[in-house]
Amino acid sequence: AEMFGQLTSGLEAAWTKLKGEDVLTKENIVEPMRDIRRALLEADVSLPVVKRFIQSVSEEAVGTGVIKGVRPDQQLVKIVSDELVKLMGGEVSELVFAKSAPTVILLAGLQGVGKTTVSAKLAFYLKKQGKSCMLIAGDVYRPAAIDQLVILGKQVDVPVYAAGTQIKPAVIARQGLAEARKKNVDVVIMDTAGRLEIDKAMMDELKEVKRVLNPTEVLLVVDAMTGQEAAALVTTFNVEIGITGAILTKLDGDSRGGAALTVKEVSGKPIKLVGRGERMEDLEPFYPDRMAGRILG
Ligand code: GDP
Repeated sequence: AEMFGQLTSGLEAAWTKLKGEDVLTKENIVEPMRDIRRALLEADVSLPVVKRFIQSVSEEAVGTGVIKGVRPDQQLVKIVSDELVKLMGGEVSELVFAKSAPTVILLAGLQGVGKTTVSAKLAFYLKKQGKSCMLIAGDVYRPAAIDQLVILGKQVDVPVYAAGTQIKPAVIARQGLAEARKKNVDVVIMDTAGRLEIDKAMMDELKEVKRVLNPTEVLLVVDAMTGQEAAALVTTFNVEIGITGAILTKLDGDSRGGAALTVKEVSGKPIKLVGRGERMEDLEPFYPDRMAGRILG
């Protein structure tokens, strides 16, 4: 199945019901709104987000009246499109850099979401913009993750600070940061350990690392395939450690769309970047308008 395919066709059902109408009314949008609601829920967008979305679209739809030369179904498509863009944060959200180097970027997220891959991808992405980078290997619970980061670092020609698995992440963070200052790099990116589920030990560790690094960006790495649990996941990380944004990975898969539509609404923090593949060049800014375009097919 193509990404968002189901969401796209679910939404199409809504427009179809307006064929032959002259104007959007409170009455004739009832059925289409039900379709939109169902399509979003089936795409794993969380219920409170869906409710607020439906409310905004309904108010907007009833208020538009007749627009010359535009059919009601086209009007509704436009309203949904605009609201989707808004829901995903509107504009592109750029990464923020510290006034004085190094800029520190802390990556957090559950295990397997693509954090280690994203760390190296991000270094490569910034390097292409002319910034010197250093990676810190902080996933001490998965020795393979450290090896993986060292290999990826070589691949993108970015130095990796690794200190094994016997040292606490906060200590590795402190040592890595000192090393980055010595090397005069522009950006330091720290990969951290994830677990299969959110737990207190992981959060405490992240808080400690954050305290040591005082990062400019704390980016939550979220797998685009995350379903209904995306809302709770993003909320918890945001409340517990305070995130500045998110990176959505695996957008090349057959994601249903829920996570992409949930992050901003539940946390107030935007998706800044997306990963759409396993190659180092597969990282790009998140464009809410293009994403809305893909959703609407
Ligand atoms: P971590 O546990 O969060 O550090 O996750 P990893 O970086 O080890 O990634 C887990 C798996 O997901 C690896 O097999 C990666 O190659 C794969 N992966 C990461 N990002 C993407 C992506 O954007 N698209 C695809 N298709 N696979 C990805």
